[in-house]
Amino acid sequence: MPSVLVVEDDPSIRQSLIEVLAEQGYAVRSAADGFGALREVTQAPVDAIVLDLGLPDLDGGDALRMIRGISSVPVLVATARDDESEIINILNAGADDYLVKPFSGGQLLARLSAVLRRTGGAPPASAGGTIGAAPAQAGEPLRPTVVGALAVDPGARTVHLAGQELRLTRREFDLLAFLAHHAGQVVSKRRLLTEVWREPYVDDQTVDVHLSSLRRKLGERASAPRYLLTVRGVGIKLVAPR
Ligand code: CA
Repeated sequence: MPSVLVVEDDPSIRQSLIEVLAEQGYAVRSAADGFGALREVTQAPVDAIVLDLGLPDLDGGDALRMIRGISSVPVLVATARDDESEIINILNAGADDYLVKPFSGGQLLARLSAVLRRTGGAPPASAGGTIGAAPAQAGEPLRPTVVGALAVDPGARTVHLAGQELRLTRREFDLLAFLAHHAGQVVSKRRLLTEVWREPYVDDQTVDVHLSSLRRKLGERASAPRYLLTVRGVGIKLVAPR
């Protein structure tokens, strides 16, 4: 299992990146700043590093040079600056590739697999196969789920409520199918962003917008929920109405 060190100071982005990579079978370690990254690299070898350039303690370029001083590990740099001279600097400082923020989980996995292939490390067997595939339960059997009068069939991509087929958008369907797959469990918005959207940089509000249109199609309101219960500060769960 290849190991990846994620260096990112923003805790929610760091968590999303960790989840995207872990789900693909990478062993993930993380650091919140440049010195933390150097400590991690000296403590135990990693197969690749995803390095945010905007770190609180060290300029990302300096962090990269310091890592290069002690290790030839492949480094994929994440930069908010889409500036050609900056990117040339990063590559000259020893980065193997770069991603411009915001980037999707799919882009990250594709670039990382490519870097690992080029440098002789192999990506995990599962990496690459599910990039861009929307339902997070890829690989698991696509069994229909029945919750109350709601029937979600991931294979046929259909939803019936009391026998009536609902017309959902692709994203609404993926969201409902994920919640149905985890019926009765509270799922955090962050997890929905990671597993349904696969976009670490999508705002939580995006989830709210889709949840509210899903609620409308299910014939309920956030103030009087039946199937989609919000657990304040934690997340959302799909339940059978009482
Ligand atoms: Ca940052």
